[in-house]
Amino acid sequence: MSDTKFTPRVFSGIQPSGGLTLGNYLGAIKRFVSMQDEDFETVYCMVDLHAITVWQDPKALAHNTRELAAGFIASGISPEKSILINQSQVPEHAQLGWIFNCVARMGWMGRMTQFKDKAGKNTENVSLGLFGYPALMAADILVYHATHVPVGEDQKQHLELTRDIAAKFNHDYGVDFFPITEPVIEGAATRVMSLRDGSKKMSKSDPSDASRINMTDDADAIAKKIRKAKTDPDALPSEVEGLEDRPEARNLVNIYAALNEQSVEDVLREVGGQQFGTFKPLLAELAVSKLAPISTEMARLMDDPAEIDRILARGAAQAREITAPILRKTYEIVGMVS
Ligand code: AMP
Repeated sequence: MSDTKFTPRVFSGIQPSGGLTLGNYLGAIKRFVSMQDEDFETVYCMVDLHAITVWQDPKALAHNTRELAAGFIASGISPEKSILINQSQVPEHAQLGWIFNCVARMGWMGRMTQFKDKAGKNTENVSLGLFGYPALMAADILVYHATHVPVGEDQKQHLELTRDIAAKFNHDYGVDFFPITEPVIEGAATRVMSLRDGSKKMSKSDPSDASRINMTDDADAIAKKIRKAKTDPDALPSEVEGLEDRPEARNLVNIYAALNEQSVEDVLREVGGQQFGTFKPLLAELAVSKLAPISTEMARLMDDPAEIDRILARGAAQAREITAPILRKTYEIVGMVS
């Protein structure tokens, strides 16, 4: 039920707060790439303003932003087909973010599970930006009038909040200006779990490097992490129901299915009955064959950071052709004199 009066447009973002993981790739980037070739305008963003809601070393932030851009391009995002930007070069994101700080309610933000997870018991000492994070995320999306947002499962609640903000703005000002955005959460791996603990999300911030596959890991590291991944002693089932209550087994099968662009049912039809001693090497081989070319290409792109900067500058100029008129109109609706 996406709004028909809006141009079909995709926006999504990833924080440059560390290296990319297999979770980012399967949950988000792979989908970003496929949506480029559908009937959408596509805008993909390194959300550096979001990253600094927790401390970032300035040199590392700049490095991670360029490396994330390299990861996007190496994975198949084409600067000819998509607008590729870092958030801070397009000032309208932060400007609309302020308006949305005045639309969103404290109670809505207080219910966000990502805030609760990141703040823990330390709510008095985290930044105000961490609390307001989802209002800026809504601005990222709505400053393009984006209609579709591909993300992993963990971002679902933020996208519901984005819809609430758009609806409240439209209602309060008596307009039909912002679209009610559709989340796109699809595929076998919308929530890739830690290799060490099937109840935890695979994350770049996990202290254990063995818990994740990094996009920059070499073939040996990938194979070793998969070999050591936590599993149970049973053989793989032939039917999906047999993965219930086996989170680690389910995770490895989901990863296999997503990497090989197969359904989980099809994978189990082939590997059902196998022990992990047989399945893990197959998975490792598949992962290396898909990821190694990406990490090689990333390293090549990182040899020429000036070229990455040029791509981002060009992306920002293209982006502002969309965002500047939408921000101008928003200010007018709100009653700002210009
Ligand atoms: P982040 O790294 O938190 O900025 O996340 C960037 C994108 O990757 C978002 O769309 C997330 O939903 C997605 N993502 C991050 N970790 C995972 C994971 N373990 N499984 C699936 N998607 C993920």
